[in-house]
Amino acid sequence: MSAPPSVELTAPNGTRYTQPTGLFINGEFVNAVKGGTITSEDPATETPIATVQAATEEDVDRAVRAASAALKDPAWKLMPGADRGILLTKLADLLEENIELFSTIDAWDVGKSYKEALTGDLPEAIGVFRHYAGWADKIAGQTIPTTPLKFAYTIRQPVGVVGQIIPWNYPTSMAAWKLAPALACGNTVVLKASEQTPLSILVLATLFQKVGFPPGVVNIINGLGREAGTPLVSHELVDKVAFTGSTATAKLIMASAAKTLKNISLETGGKSPLLVFDDAEMEQAVRWSHMGIMSNSGQICTATSRILVQEGIYDDFVAQYIERVKTTSKVGNQWDVDTYQGPQVNRVQHERILEYIEIGKKEATLAHGGDSAELCKNKGFYVSPTVFTDAKPSTRIWKEEIFGPVVVIMPFKTEEEAIALANDSCYGLGASVFTTDLQRAHRVSSELESGMVWVNSSQDCDPRIPFGGVKQSGIGRELGEAGLEAYTQIKAVHVNMGSKL
Ligand code: NAD
Repeated sequence: MSAPPSVELTAPNGTRYTQPTGLFINGEFVNAVKGGTITSEDPATETPIATVQAATEEDVDRAVRAASAALKDPAWKLMPGADRGILLTKLADLLEENIELFSTIDAWDVGKSYKEALTGDLPEAIGVFRHYAGWADKIAGQTIPTTPLKFAYTIRQPVGVVGQIIPWNYPTSMAAWKLAPALACGNTVVLKASEQTPLSILVLATLFQKVGFPPGVVNIINGLGREAGTPLVSHELVDKVAFTGSTATAKLIMASAAKTLKNISLETGGKSPLLVFDDAEMEQAVRWSHMGIMSNSGQICTATSRILVQEGIYDDFVAQYIERVKTTSKVGNQWDVDTYQGPQVNRVQHERILEYIEIGKKEATLAHGGDSAELCKNKGFYVSPTVFTDAKPSTRIWKEEIFGPVVVIMPFKTEEEAIALANDSCYGLGASVFTTDLQRAHRVSSELESGMVWVNSSQDCDPRIPFGGVKQSGIGRELGEAGLEAYTQIKAVHVNMGSKL
């Protein structure tokens, strides 16, 4: 069978590069068995960028078998952790050398601002590879004293073959969050990218090829959720599934993984609250609460999309917030250096957000935005940054994840009421507290039902700090030392040194 073609592309910012189009299995690019394809589109112009191959069950099986064989191959199985770390360091260095290229591809494919990709997404991805490169030779167990003539020790071993499924909102950095810890811990991987953003992941595969990971250790495929994701989750040789995406898909994955009792970790959706108390520093609260929902066009799982403001400062906050949106949220294409908010990723998301805005107009007061007609007249999936006020806790725009630049602001009277409103959600990913009262900051942080709390801030994320949610926002944690727990299993070894008992 002939090798799959690569295509020469020139991005709107003038960057020229070679885009692989095949599936990366067992160290090489191969054709999809059934010849299915996915065409990626520029959300700013609604024009196709490139067509790549889409995996189906047979391809997934081939990738999983390659990963399974690589797991047993001494080239990987016996590779010292220090050497895995060197490979990951080299990968991070190569990614850094190509930082403009990856920022370009993600900006083009997702619609996000190039500047944000270059200064945010890509440095984060590189940092995650470096962080786990450092861990690779420090994954240790314990020795545990028991009785005088016995002792026990634990070793941390890889979970095995890991199926990883990622979303489209941060393609390269989501891939880094998944691949880096899994490889540092000695697992082998089949990663499926989102069908919305299939491009940068294939270029990343070429870096893995260059660095010299043994064939089959890293397999990267594109494909639709049901055609490629479902067989990956149910494959009997897959030991663990690590998923980031919507809560609805996570539930399907959990049900499917139950059949073979797979280890799973799930990072899902959210409707994160942001609390502003009347002693908060106002300018700081307005700045962070704007960024916490309006950056990345509101396509952030941890977006602080529900803002609760104490009644004494409510009107002032709303006025300053709208002023901030007017002066900061410049909507435009990915390449304009002044763009704060690019187009939404695709037509489906665009229409979904506009539907929510129409629902919101009936449920609450539209305080700003809400109309995209002017923005879209020259094409592109643009949405006006939109602010609703006076919503009730029972409304859909308050309860449901919109995944766009739409925020709802509501007043509260007391700390107890603020906590109750914040926790009245099926989600529990992030939460923010703005206050200058140190005791209140810690008291409220402790009470909020979420995996992460930001005090006087929003969206802080660091390779060293565990990331993940409670309730229907997920199971397990990524990043930091928690990432090692996700990708290793503990074996206990009991040693008898002569005891008769
Ligand atoms: P999605 O659930 O539609 O898709 C995510 C991935 O799952 C894609 O690769 C898709 O192909 C795959 N998939 C879809 N159906 C599948 C199935 N039945 N079996 C296996 N795989 C399947 O989500 P999305 O629209 O790509 O991303 C947006 C959602 O992701 C939002 O809800 C957002 O909150 C969430 N998200 C969460 C985090 C986090 O870390 N918690 C990060 C980013 C995005």
